[in-house]
Amino acid sequence: MEHCDTLVIGGGPAGLFAASHLHKGSKIVLLEKNINLGEKLNIAGSGRCNITHTGPIMDFISKYGDNGRFLRNALLSFTNLDLISFFNTRGVDTICDANGKVFPKSEKAVDIIDTLITECRKRGVLIKTGAAVLSIRKTDDGFLVLTEKNTYLTRQVIIATGGKSYPATGSTGDGYKFVKAFGHAIVEPRPSLSPVFIKEYMFAGISGVSLTNRPIHLYRNGKKIREYHGDIGFTHKGLSGPGILDFSRYFLTGDMLKINMIDLPLDTLRDNLILANEKNGKMSVKNFLKKYDLPESLIKAVLEGMNMDVSITLACLTKQMRNQIVDQFCNHPFVIGKIGSFQVAMATTGGIHLKEVSPKTMQSRLVEGLYFAGELMDIDGDTGGYNIQAAFSTGFLAANAINKLV
Ligand SMILES: Cc1cc2nc3c(=O)[nH]c(=O)nc-3n(C[C@H](O)[C@H](O)[C@H](O)COP(=O)(O)OP(=O)(O)OC[C@H]3O[C@@H](n4cnc5c(N)ncnc54)[C@H](O)[C@@H]3O)c2cc1C
Repeated sequence: MEHCDTLVIGGGPAGLFAASHLHKGSKIVLLEKNINLGEKLNIAGSGRCNITHTGPIMDFISKYGDNGRFLRNALLSFTNLDLISFFNTRGVDTICDANGKVFPKSEKAVDIIDTLITECRKRGVLIKTGAAVLSIRKTDDGFLVLTEKNTYLTRQVIIATGGKSYPATGSTGDGYKFVKAFGHAIVEPRPSLSPVFIKEYMFAGISGVSLTNRPIHLYRNGKKIREYHGDIGFTHKGLSGPGILDFSRYFLTGDMLKINMIDLPLDTLRDNLILANEKNGKMSVKNFLKKYDLPESLIKAVLEGMNMDVSITLACLTKQMRNQIVDQFCNHPFVIGKIGSFQVAMATTGGIHLKEVSPKTMQSRLVEGLYFAGELMDIDGDTGGYNIQAAFSTGFLAANAINKLV
């Protein structure tokens, strides 16, 4: 049996960052089941690793669905600027794209991973890879953590085993099993940051086309329940793009999305159609609609879907046809046939119920000495670097809380 002060389970950004911030001098062990550390981090941002965002830190709170407020302490304790400075001062320069996303200048995730590993080594963290934790049990002497080859006795445990998305990276939901055994409630994990497959999809032919910052309305059982604005991409089988991915944490199969492709109220488009007809009835509907920043291929696809001649002029529209056009372009319905699975989702919504975790320390409210960091908790961020920031900030807070115990 090996003894340690703090044992960290999971070598993703949350676990590595937490371990690298624990007191030097205390005995720290990090167990990672993969042979390599940071497998998911390595593919983040298509390998470029979008580590955070440059927006004001208070704006971050709104980027985690309904659970952002839980992260307030964590984000303020270790902000996006702290994160950027952490890497800059360790020789990893960063760049920021037009949307505020921050990447290592090299655009190589491996630079982020290597820095985290170096920091862990500097702190004297004993890193063991190929060491899958099988169970955790609390005894009078501390926590007994079991792997296939070893048993560890530790005073504190930080569980940072991630969610369930991209299971090939090692995030297979093991942490849920561990915390359930301690009596923690789990909000059912579901795919998030996921594309959706649409029933009776008519846009396969325009796959690759996208719309910028359009309103998306979510309907369930005929009732509108949420609204979002964002970029939308048409794929072979459904919808994707940041607007859909960010909104997907709320989707269920069978829900309907109504997209306002024009980004105008229905009545305004109707009035504009009437006015344009009065001015120049010979203008085609297609040319009229192009004014609204709509790709021609999309206009054609919608008109064809309505069985309308794509070269029809404004003058030829009946009132009923006009209403149909308004409805299809301002309120286009898409029924969700399926949400992309954990194999393609970039995050997991759901996880450890936040009511049972202290937002100031990341310690379990049920079990003293048990701490959490990262996506294992019911936290999932929008695209833009918010997930990695949350992993770092929660890891930092957990480590600091443990340091204060010593
Ligand atoms: C394709 C893709 C692209 C992404 N791009 C971005 C991006 O650019 N920016 C961004 O902010 N977010 C991005 N994300 C999300 C982000 O990578 C995650 O939110 C983040 O990695 C979560 O960190 P974590 O440390 O909590 O968990 P993880 O990174 O999932 O790490 C958990 C670790 O725990 C280990 N583990 C699990 N079970 C055990 C066990 N029983 N014993 C020992 N070890 C175990 C796993 O092997 C894994 O290494 C992306 C995700 C994906 C899938």
